[in-house]
Amino acid sequence: MATIFSRIVVGEIPSYKIAEDDKFFAFLDINPLVKGHTLVIPKQEVDYIFDLSDEDLAAMHVFAKKVARAIEKAIPCKRVGASVIGLEVPHAHIHLIPINRESDMLISNPKLKLSQEEFTAIAEAIRAQY
Ligand code: 5GP
Repeated sequence: MATIFSRIVVGEIPSYKIAEDDKFFAFLDINPLVKGHTLVIPKQEVDYIFDLSDEDLAAMHVFAKKVARAIEKAIPCKRVGASVIGLEVPHAHIHLIPINRESDMLISNPKLKLSQEEFTAIAEAIRAQY
């Protein structure tokens, strides 16, 4: 059965899309730690990021870099942190999180509740910088 993230890639489940190319897809995390919290995934269904080929792992980071640059421009922050956890969804993903302090990266922090309008505005602002 397809993962929830594969279903997002094909549009079966809606998402606030940021960017895609032939191999990778970026969209807003639905339970964001901060505004602009984005997930980058390979379209290939791989659970564990370190099971990707060297080439795909490298390409995923190059794709994530471009997304991070757009987030930096759209969301006021000191920098964009990147983390890989992957204990919840069995489809490899990099969290890109605009941060101002170390503790902004803590995945156990309370999540923001954003309205549809807020998600849409954030996604548009990041996309405009991509
Ligand atoms: P992890 O597997 O790295 O622990 O966390 C998975 C992340 O995926 C969480 O931050 C969670 O909010 C996010 N997530 C889970 N399901 C969905 C979904 O259906 N849509 C979106 N946009 N994000 C999701």
